[in-house]
Formats: sequence, structure tokens, C-alpha cells
Amino acid sequence: MNLLIKNIILPDGDKLKTADICVSNGIIKSIGSVPDGFVADETVEGGSRLAIPAFVNAHTHAYMSVLRNAADDLPFMQWLFEGVMPREEKLNNEQAYWGSLLACAEMIRRGCGTFCDMHLFPGASARAAIDSGMRAVVSRGLTGSDGGQRRLDEQYAEIEEFKGYDNIKFMLAPHAIYTCDKEFLLKVSAEAKRLGLGLNIHLSESKAEFEDCLRDNGCTPTEYVASLGLFENKTLAAHCVQLTENDISLLAKYNVSVASNPKSNLKLGNGIAPIYQLDQAGVNVCIGTDSAASNNSLNMFAELNYMTLLHKGTNYDSTAIPAKKALDFATVNGARALGFEKLGKLEEGWAADIALLDTNVPQMVPLRNYYAAVCYCCDGSETDTLVLNGKVVMKNKQLLTIDEEQLFYNVNKIVEATD
Ligand SMILES: [Zn+2]
Repeated sequence: MNLLIKNIILPDGDKLKTADICVSNGIIKSIGSVPDGFVADETVEGGSRLAIPAFVNAHTHAYMSVLRNAADDLPFMQWLFEGVMPREEKLNNEQAYWGSLLACAEMIRRGCGTFCDMHLFPGASARAAIDSGMRAVVSRGLTGSDGGQRRLDEQYAEIEEFKGYDNIKFMLAPHAIYTCDKEFLLKVSAEAKRLGLGLNIHLSESKAEFEDCLRDNGCTPTEYVASLGLFENKTLAAHCVQLTENDISLLAKYNVSVASNPKSNLKLGNGIAPIYQLDQAGVNVCIGTDSAASNNSLNMFAELNYMTLLHKGTNYDSTAIPAKKALDFATVNGARALGFEKLGKLEEGWAADIALLDTNVPQMVPLRNYYAAVCYCCDGSETDTLVLNGKVVMKNKQLLTIDEEQLFYNVNKIVEATD
């Protein structure tokens, strides 16, 4: 299957260039002019649209899109334990599938091709990713003061069910240190080692988590997790808002990837992660949206914008987290954290996950600088066409893999039945 994307705009040093992208079997074969002998099965007219690597959303809970606007402006623990969890308990797997597909539709419309999901409903987000054409790393949120065996068994069954799908990967996800006791954290860590899987954990998200850990364990959440040996697994830690200098050193030492969720952290009143310092220490920083229950949208353009502006402002340094670096956080760094190789860059030999952005809108005119346009001007509505794995999943703002009318109908039915 050969795809030709004609006449798109790419960066050329500090300038811009126009190029054609040839894709063969999901891989970028050439960027520039069309090589001799390349016969396209399908052609997308770029029409001077700007091309970016599709985003990698490194932390979300896709099914929670059905909980959008269900609990807002509440204290963090009240939001979680009173606003979110009682509603989650009423959902079943089928309803979680529609919630996950809603997340996929929103992510596709905002140029995102891959997501890392922590869920409660085995198979729901994996099926939604497959049906929509997205890539996903899927993990059953594991909580355990009761041994957690049922949830681990659900994870094993899910791994078995989807093992034939190249674009679905797995991690083990101990939810957080405040929902998993020490024995269970050790057990999950050992299981991750046995299965050769990475870990996906919420870490040091709130002041309450940080202070409770100091009180109960005499060390910070990051020190606690490190002391239990969890970081000996390839680890993706979400949030990492409350960090000491020693915590930052530990995350760097163990090559932990940090998924920062700037909007969710702000909305839940949890603060601002020290991303500038983490990046300076050599930590692989990536970006997530978190869920629609805490954000309340899954728009990586918004996260990109917050990521750059927050850290310039809080560091009193307008050169902190420049646009190009932030785009790397949102693409190739996320792919690295999730274990997808050669994903997140528009280069020959890399995966053809490509978003095309309309430049014929006021906020994109004049188009002087590629990275500044993407980070500081785009709101996401510019996303016009999305190619994932060499296949067109959205063309001229029409979703080709999801029936939105059916989707919205089903989601509204779920809300009627569970609210
Ligand atoms: Zn989360």
C-alpha cells in the first residue's frame, strides 16, 4: 500500500520548505520529490498544509471521556473518591468502549495518533484504538490492599487477547502509592520483570500524596518507589509535580520517563511539575492530557502551549522549553517512553503517523516559523487530515474510521443510564 502526500510544508532549518511525502506499507519512504518508480495507490493533496508528526499522548484514561464535566472545581481527593470513582463503578465494559472511542475521536481530531491508557475495563480501550486506527499502550489500573490478584488476572487476559496486534502494547500499572500497599507494589514490579513489561504509575501528583508519604514512610514518593526497586523496570511516571532535587536525580539515574499533564495538574490544583529541571537533568519528558474528567479535553495542542508558557513563566526565563523541544516532548519522547521505535519524527524510515494542519486560517498567517506556529498559534482546530500507520483516518476533517453520529448517541445514552 503506497500513499503519496503532496505539497505539504515542513521546516528547513529556520525556514520552511514544500515537499511530497511518499509512504510505503506504513513507513515514510521519502520526503522531498517523488522517487522514480513510486506508484501511489492513494494520494492526499496537502494543499500547502503544514505537516507534523502525529502526537503521542503519554498519559490518559480514555474511558473517562464519558465522565467529562461530571465533577469539576472540587478538592482533588473529593474529585477522585466522590466525583469520579462512584460513577466509574456504574460503568460496564461496553460503556467503557464507547467512552474510549469518544476519546479516540477527540484525539484524532486534534492530531494525536498514539495514547498510553490506564483503565479499569479490560479490552475497551484496546478495541477502541484498533477500531479507530490508533496505536495504544494499554494498562489495567492495578490497586491492591487486598492482593489485587483479580485485577492482575484481568491484565494477563487482556494481554493474551490482543497479543496479535502490533499497534497495541502493554505495561503494568500500579495505580499509585496511595492505592497500592508495599507488598502489592513489589508483586507488580516482580511481575513486570517476569513478563518483560514496563511500569506505568501515577507518582507524586499532589501535595497530599507527598506529605502522606513523608509521614508514613519517612521519604518522598519518588524515593519510596525507588527504594522498592520499581525503577529497575522501564518506568513511565505520570505527573511528578511534587519533586525534590534528589527526586529529580533519582528519576534521571533510573531513566524514568515523566509524562507531564500540565492542564490536569492545574485544574486539580496540584501545581506545576519542575519540567525545566527534569529536562536539564536528562529525564525523558513527555506530555499527556490525563482524562477528560480532569482536563476536560484531550487536546495535545493545548498541552503543548501550556507546557512552554508555564515553564517560561515559573522559571522567569523566556528561553525555557522552546517550541521545538516541546514538540519533541509531545511526539518522539512519548514514543520512546511507550516503546514504539521510529515513531514521532517525520524522517525517512520512520512510521507514517502524520497530521496535516490548515494554514489558511488567521492564526496561521503569516506562516514564518514552523515550531512557533504549532506551539504558540494552533488551537488544534487546524488539524485537517491525519495519517496513522500509512492509512488516512481523517481527511478534510471527516473521520473515516469512526461513525460520530452513532458514537455521540451511545455516549449520551450511557450518561442517561449512569448519572
Ligand atoms: Zn492519570
